Amino acid sequence: MRAFHTAEILAVGSELLTPFRQDTNSLFLAGRLNDAGIDVRWKTVVGDDPSDLASVVRHAIARADIVLTTGGLGPTADDVTREAVATVLGVPLDEDTAVFDAIRARFAARGLPMPDANRRQAQVPRGAIVMANPLGTAPGLWIESSDHVIALLPGPPREMQPMFETHVDPRIRARAGGRQVRRRVIKVTGRSESAVEEVAHPIYSRLGGAVTVDTTILAAPGQIELHLSARGADIAALDAALEAGRGMTTHDAVALAMG
Ligand code: AMP
Ligand code: MG
Repeated sequence: MRAFHTAEILAVGSELLTPFRQDTNSLFLAGRLNDAGIDVRWKTVVGDDPSDLASVVRHAIARADIVLTTGGLGPTADDVTREAVATVLGVPLDEDTAVFDAIRARFAARGLPMPDANRRQAQVPRGAIVMANPLGTAPGLWIESSDHVIALLPGPPREMQPMFETHVDPRIRARAGGRQVRRRVIKVTGRSESAVEEVAHPIYSRLGGAVTVDTTILAAPGQIELHLSARGADIAALDAALEAGRGMTTHDAVALAMG
C-alpha cells in the first residue's frame, strides 16, 4: 500500500463563517498530523450546506491522501456531514444497530427517552468503521480506500480530541510509512527579512538527500521568525538539518557584532 503524506482538514459549521466562532479544531489536528509525519496542505472552512459540503469533500479527496472533517455530525437537520460524504462516495447510509443501541443507552442512563432526531446519528455510510464517542452521541467514522482515507470527527473539541488520539492517530501512523515532520522556529532581531533569507538560503539549499527542508520567513514587530520544517524517515538526519540553523544564527550574530 502507498504511504500517505498529505492531508486536508475540513472544518464544517455555519457558525465558523461568522465573526463569533473560530475554527480551533484544525490547529489541534495540524499539530497531531505533523507529529505523525503528515503535511497539512489545505484547510477549508465550510458552512452546513449540503451542496457546498459535497463540493469541498469532492475537492479534498481528489487532492489529499487524508481528509479529516470536524463538525456536522449532530442530530439536527443542519448537521449534514455524513450524508454529504456518503453522497460523494456514492455509498448508501445504513442504520447501525450497535450505534443506535449506544445512543439510546446514553439517554437511558440519564432517565430520558431518545429523541427521534438522534436516530440519524446511527446512520453509517456503507463500508465505514465506527469510532466510539464516549463523551457524546455522535460517533466518528473512518472510511478507507486504497486512494485516501476520510475521517469524520465530531465538532466539540472535548469529543474530537480524545477520538483523534484513540482511533485516528494510530490508523494514520500505520499509513504514514514511518515518515516524520520536525519543525524549528528561529527568532532573529536586528535584521530585515531579506537579510535573514540571504544568510539562511545558502545553508538550507546545501541540505539534500533524505531530508527536505522548507523555510518560511515571517516578519513580526521587531523580530523576524524563520520557520523550518524538515521531512524524512531518519529522525537524526532531520534534527541535524534543523540544527544547521544554529550556524545561521551564529553567523548572523558574528556579522552583526562586526557591524
Ligand atoms: P457540531 O458537531 O457541528 O454540532 O458542532 C458542535 C460544536 O462544536 C459547535 O457549536 C462548536 O462549539 C464546536 N465546533 C465545531 N467545529 C469546531 C471547530 N472547527 N473548532 C472549534 N470548535 C468547533
Ligand atoms: Mg454544526
